Formats: sequence, structure tokens, C-alpha cells
Amino acid sequence: MNPPKKIIVIGGGAAGFFSAINCKNFHPGYEVIILEKTQHLLSKVKVSGGGRCNVTHACFEIEELIKNYPRGAEFLRECFSHFMTTDTIKWFEKRGVKIKKEEDGRMFPVSNSSQTIIDCFLEEVKKRDIKIILGDGFIKLERKENYFILHSQKTSYKCDKVIVTTGSSPQVWETLKKAGHTIVNPVPSLFTFHIDDERIKGLPGISVNYGIVKTADKKIETRGPVLITHWGLSGPAILKLSAFGAEEFHKRNYHFTILVNWLGTDKKIILEHLRKLRDEQAKKIIDTISPFEIPLRFWKSLCVAAGVTDFKWASISNKQLENLAAQLCECEFQVTGKSTFKEEFVTCGGIALDEVNNETMESNTLPGVYFAGEVLNIDAVTGGFNFQAAWTTGFLAGKNV
Ligand SMILES: Cc1cc2nc3c(=O)[nH]c(=O)nc-3n(C[C@H](O)[C@H](O)[C@H](O)COP(=O)(O)OP(=O)(O)OC[C@H]3O[C@@H](n4cnc5c(N)ncnc54)[C@H](O)[C@@H]3O)c2cc1C
Repeated sequence: MNPPKKIIVIGGGAAGFFSAINCKNFHPGYEVIILEKTQHLLSKVKVSGGGRCNVTHACFEIEELIKNYPRGAEFLRECFSHFMTTDTIKWFEKRGVKIKKEEDGRMFPVSNSSQTIIDCFLEEVKKRDIKIILGDGFIKLERKENYFILHSQKTSYKCDKVIVTTGSSPQVWETLKKAGHTIVNPVPSLFTFHIDDERIKGLPGISVNYGIVKTADKKIETRGPVLITHWGLSGPAILKLSAFGAEEFHKRNYHFTILVNWLGTDKKIILEHLRKLRDEQAKKIIDTISPFEIPLRFWKSLCVAAGVTDFKWASISNKQLENLAAQLCECEFQVTGKSTFKEEFVTCGGIALDEVNNETMESNTLPGVYFAGEVLNIDAVTGGFNFQAAWTTGFLAGKNV
């Protein structure tokens, strides 16, 4: 009788556990080992979603779902046809982890604790007799005729196939590069913007729900809440812009111009509305009541920027109304740096996707080697999409290895 096939999953994070468990699920006869460099398993899962683990997003159409991936959308279209958000929910529920949806579509375990996800994985690993080796990092892979020798910090392992799920590890990317893979230059994604500007100074905490943010060339546009912070701007629309513009902003050393539409409405319509206000409220002072859904303090600040303070509406010129409409709908800011969003850093870049089969996750360059998770050049906006990519690619790698 032949010995069982031996699979080594490199990396004990979200993608590693999902690959290993699904591998055993589909191939109960295989020997599956998770090799983790540190002494800790699933450390990002533990802190994810503020300790609640935002496991996926309530988006159930592939074409809608892929819009949340600045890098990897095309690649994932095929992957999601095999394992979607609905499959994630079912997968966890089948194992006793109930998932709930929040108003904004983010989905969490009902327990509101990432430990529930960790416990689920650890139980599966135990039940399926998956071996875990801690404190030993992968260094190099040596191909023999029909098996691999995996060299680690402490020893070497003979195995039939390998699933690489090492997340954003520069050392592993370097090793894979030497083995023939192309690595798309890793740069940060998902960050907030540093902006030093009188218009937003002293106004932290003020937010609008329906903002539109664009790059100066208008090539990238995102929508959603925008939040004024102590150091600049944040909120979902800003984070999305940071993700879709990650490579461009990196090239510019995080110095670039953005345009914010605070009202999410076309400038022409706002200008028309301002003209109407001038006629209807002729005798009123412009900066005593905010006529839009923005707080009075911020309205006053925009009035100052447009040069129209303490004036009666009737005395405002057409030019001044245009200035005001511009402040409301095309408010220009110079970004001069970035900050991490709640420590939720994500790196874009990684293994070039045209070198990986998106039905099986097998490397086209190194047959017998599979990839899942953040090691690939896939990343998403916030909301549970990054984990969804880890589950989907992990499922496919585990199934097809
Ligand atoms: C603070 C924070 C909060 C987040 N919250 C969310 C959220 O709520 N929802 C969401 O969708 N996404 C979230 N993300 C993103 C998400 O955590 C990642 O996309 C996901 O963890 C990627 O999983 P992975 O398994 O590919 O990589 P990782 O989780 O990074 O795991 C890689 C593992 O490989 C190990 N490793 C590295 N090199 C080696 C080596 N040479 N040998 C052996 N092992 C090695 C590492 O130690 C690590 O354990 C968050 C990220 C952060 C930082």
C-alpha cells in the first residue's frame, strides 16, 4: 500500500487553516500539516474586526462582490463561482458558528467574538487529525522528481504538495521570486489621509453619510461616509479611495490632491439650490443655519472658505455662490501623508495572478505548489472582503491540491 499523500500548508493564518481543513475534508486519506513560523496561530483573526472578526460581507452577487477588490477582481470572478459568501456562511453554520449581518452588510459571528472562529478552526483541526508545527519557518523549497523537500529553520520535510499561505511575508515572496514567480511590488492599502487644512481644523468627529471622493484627475471615485479626524480625513469613502489608488498614491509618496463632494449631489443642482435660497431667504444671514445635512460649524467653515461670512443671502454675488457650490461639491484638499486605519493594515501586491490557475490555485510556474490568501496579489476594501478572499482561495487550494 502506498503511504498517504503528505501536504504541507505553510502559514497558520486564516487561509492556512481554511486550506488545511478543506483539504482533509475532500481528501480524508491525506496527511496534512500546518507549518507556522511563530508560536501563535490565527493571530490576525484574533484581532480582526476589533476582536469580533468580520468574516464576510452580505453581498451575494459575484459581479457586485468583485467590485470590492481593487486587485484580484477578474481572478476572483472564477473563484467565487466555486465558493461564495453564501458558502462561507453555510460552512461556519454547519460547524455551529452562527453568522449575523449588520446594517452596513458586514457579517460577524453572533457571539461578537473572533475566538468563536478560532475555536471552530482548532476543533476542526483536532477532529481531522491535522498536525500543527509551531515555531518553525519555511525557508526554501526543493523540487525532486515527484516530491518536494521543504527546508525550514529547524529541519527539512519531505512532502508531495505544498500550499503557501504566508500572508504578506517579504521573505517568502523573495524565496518564490528566486523560484521563478513574479511578485507585484507590495505597498500598503487601506489608510486614512493626512490633511493640514483650515477648513477642517478643530472639527474632528464631523461626518457626512453620502460623500463622494475623487482623485484630482477624477480617474478614481468612491462613495460613502467621510469623517473629519484630528489629522485629516477618514471614513469608508476615504479608505476605499486609499485601496483603489494604493499603487498610485505610493508612487506619489502620499502627496496628492483629492476632491470631496460633501453632499454627494451634482454641483449644478447644488448651485441651483443656493440660488433659490438666495431668493427665498434674502434677508437672512447666510451662516446662522446650515441649509444642508452638514453641521452648522462645518457649514460656517465652508462659508469662510468661499468668502461669504456674515452676509445676508440677498447680497451674495453669483461668483460667491459658485465658490460656495465648489466648496460643497468639489472641495479640494492636499494630502500630505497617511495613517493606518485602526491597525487594520492590508498590503496589496504579492504573487502575480496570471501565474496561478484560478480554478485550482495551483502555480503555473511551480506545479504542485498552491497559493491562498494574502500571499496572492489580491486585496479588498474593508467590510469582510479580505477574509472572504482567504476562505475562497483556501477552499480551492485545499480541494484541488
Ligand atoms: C488588525 C487587522 C484587522 C483585520 N480585520 C479584518 C476583518 O475584520 N475582516 C477582513 O476581511 N479582513 C480583516 N483584516 C485582513 C485579514 O486579516 C487578512 O486579509 C487575512 O488575515 C489574510 O490571511 P492569510 O492567512 O493570507 O495571512 P495571515 O493571516 O497574515 O497569515 C499568514 C501566516 O503565515 C505565517 N508565516 C509567514 N511566513 C512564514 C514562514 N516563512 N513559514 C511559516 N509560516 C509563515 C505568519 O506568521 C502568519 O501566521 C484585518 C487585518 C488586520 C491587520
